[in-house]
Order: sequence, then structure tokens, then C-alpha cells
Amino acid sequence: MTGMTSSARPLLNRRLAEFGTTIFAEMSALAARTGAINLGQGFPDTDGPEEIREAAVRALREGRGNQYPPGPGIPELRAAVAAHQQHRYGLSFDPDTEVLVTAGATEAIAAALLALLEPGDEVIALEPYYDSYAASIAMAGGTRVPVTLRPHTVGGTAAFRLDLDELRAAVTDRTRLLLINTPHNPTGTVLTREELTAIAELAVERDLLVVTDEVYEHLVFDDAAHLPLATFPGMRERTVTIGSAGKTFSFTGWKVGWVTAAPELVGAVRSVKQFLTYVASGPFQYAVAEALSLPDTYFDALRADMLAKRDLLGDGLRSAGFEVYQPQGTYFITTDITPLGEKDAHAFCRALPERCGVVAIPNSVFYDDPDAGRSQVRFAFCKRDDVLTEATGRLRRLTS
Ligand code: PMP
Ligand code: GLN
Repeated sequence: MTGMTSSARPLLNRRLAEFGTTIFAEMSALAARTGAINLGQGFPDTDGPEEIREAAVRALREGRGNQYPPGPGIPELRAAVAAHQQHRYGLSFDPDTEVLVTAGATEAIAAALLALLEPGDEVIALEPYYDSYAASIAMAGGTRVPVTLRPHTVGGTAAFRLDLDELRAAVTDRTRLLLINTPHNPTGTVLTREELTAIAELAVERDLLVVTDEVYEHLVFDDAAHLPLATFPGMRERTVTIGSAGKTFSFTGWKVGWVTAAPELVGAVRSVKQFLTYVASGPFQYAVAEALSLPDTYFDALRADMLAKRDLLGDGLRSAGFEVYQPQGTYFITTDITPLGEKDAHAFCRALPERCGVVAIPNSVFYDDPDAGRSQVRFAFCKRDDVLTEATGRLRRLTS
């Protein structure tokens, strides 16, 4: 060990040197240490449906999934994923060749990028981006090229939007892949039909692969609709779509995710996935297969519940003096702290537990240029109403 640590060469390879501890772990540890209300890391404080929890218990007791499940995922879950894509979006996938079960969406993202990139390939990602994108692109030796979503105010409501000209201008001869995320974490932006049409046209014209992270597909509000990129012309054969049971069924600890794509794409992702985890979450796969077969009323109720929470937290944040960017999807609200006389989101979030007993996430860590998101702070609203009310009451004390 002495020999290793005294070496001049750093232990962590240089591709990953810029990635320290994820902001979610850092901020959840801060919440645990201080006892603050955790509106940072995105996980619900209420578990998903009781009957689905019971389905997992049943699988465990009956010895289903206690040993390695099949590499691509259990047939019941692959069939349920395919049926869900068909029922919700009219997309038809062969459960045997076009569906792959992964250890959460996180593994799906990593495996897809490790499978599809050669070192030096450029990947265009919507910025601010979910933190694992940058790390996974780096692990694959790719070069990330951010296209920044920017705040716009329409009819008195501020929200983040994609500039299609900037997206087009970002494509070069080295671009291999577009990494899209809709509904978008952390901004809550839901890409519109026009935007998705333009993205699809660009992908076809420049012959790009697309990886689309749609884990918040069931959390869309107001007049927004989730439109999977794979439904657009020319996209079915070039798109890897990623979903997760963590978000849709409020079991983030189970780590069940999935990929749907054409057989060649699924085959490539599977080649990598088999050497990352091989398989995961055996008994939970049975439970998630049942969850995906829940009636539409479950998904409608989830959405209605989260919409009410969005408004509860949004109103509370506004009354506490934050500028609120209205999310049309996800369970996050991005705010600007400038009206509070604050400038630095990271410093603000580090001090927040001490100042008023709340934890949030500084969006600056989701930008290549931290100055771009310097004054943005993200709050999660997948929490009990009393928790959200208590948190915004505490935040109001910042200015009173
Ligand atoms: N993508 C996005 C946009 C996310 O917010 C998350 C959050 N957890 C993930 C992927 C990872 O999902 P999982 O927990 O299924 O790995
Ligand atoms: N996706 C979650 C968030 O954005 C965090 C998941 C994680 O900690 N890896 O808060």
C-alpha cells in the first residue's frame, strides 16, 4: 500500500479525476448530519404501492429471483416493459430482442455510452445535465458537448427552453450521439412535439445515435405531454430509450431500470451490461413486472399527487422570495436565489441546513461552466405535504 500511495501518479484515472463525490451523496450526508429536511436528492419519502411491495416479498418467499435472473432480465418483466411501451405510446418492441433490464437507469446510461462510443467521439447533452451523464461519457472516453437550456419568460411564467439553433450548431463531424433527457432533470423542461421533431430531423440528417433518458415519463403536468423520441420518424432504429421503476413506482432503492431499442442497439448495450453487473434486483424484477401492469388509474393518481406537490412547493418557494422556474415535468423545481440577495448556489446550499434546516442541490454542479448556473438551486417535491409545508415555512425565515 505504501508503494501505491507514495507514487506520484494519482490513483483515480485521469478520465474521472474531475468527478468527486456526487452532489446527491454529499447533500444527503449533510441532511443526515444536521437533521435538516432533505429536499436535495430526488427520492420520495413515501414508498410506492403496498401491493407491489407485497409482490416483492412474495417473490422472495417463493424463491423467485433469489438466484441470478437471466442476463437480459426475467421474461415477465421484459414482456411488461414491451406491453407498457405499446399501451402508452403505440411502440412495439420484441421482449426477447429489444428489451434489456438494467440495474436502474444509471447502469443503462453507463452501459449505453460505454457500448456506443469510441474515445474522442462527441456527445451532445442538454445542460444542466444529470451528473452521471458527464461521468459516463468520461468513462467511455467521449467528449461532452453541452447545449444549454436557458430561462425564458412566457406569459409571466419563467421556464427553461432548448434553443434548436444552438443544438444544430453543436453538431460536428465528430458527433456520434445525442444524449436527450425529457422530462428534464433538474429544470423540469418537457420537450415539445416541435422540439422533438427538430431533434429527430437533425439525428437523421447527421446520422446520429440517440440515447434518451425518459425516467420521468409519467411525471408531466399542465398541458405538457411526454412524447418518446422513438415515436418520431427515423428514430425507432437509432434510439436507445431508458426507463426506471425508481421514479414511476417510488422504489428508488430497488434499482430496476430498462432499455428499449432495436436488436443491434440492445445487443451492444447488453455486451457491456453483462460485464458491469451481469444482473441485479432479482425478486424486485418480479414486483416491477406487476407494477408496470397496474391500471392507468395508478399513473393518473401519481401525476395528480405530484402536480399538487409541485404547486405546494412552488407557492411556498415564491412566498419565501425565490424566483421559481415552473417545471412541467419531474419532481424537481429549479429556482434562482438572486432575489434573496444571494449569488453562489453552492455556498448557499452548504449553509442552508445551519441557517434554516433545509437541504437543496446547487445546479452549478450540472454545468460545464459553473458560472452559468451559479445562482440556481434545485428543490425536490416528492415529499409529504406536511414536510413541504414545514420546509417552506423554514425557508421563509431566511428573509424575515
Ligand atoms: N436519469 C435521471 C434524469 C435521473 O434523475 C435519475 C435519478 N435517479 C436517473 C437517471 C437514475 O435512475 P436510477 O435510480 O433508476 O438509476
Ligand atoms: N436522480 C436523483 C436526483 O436527481 C439522484 C439519484 C442519485 O443520487 N444517484 O436527485
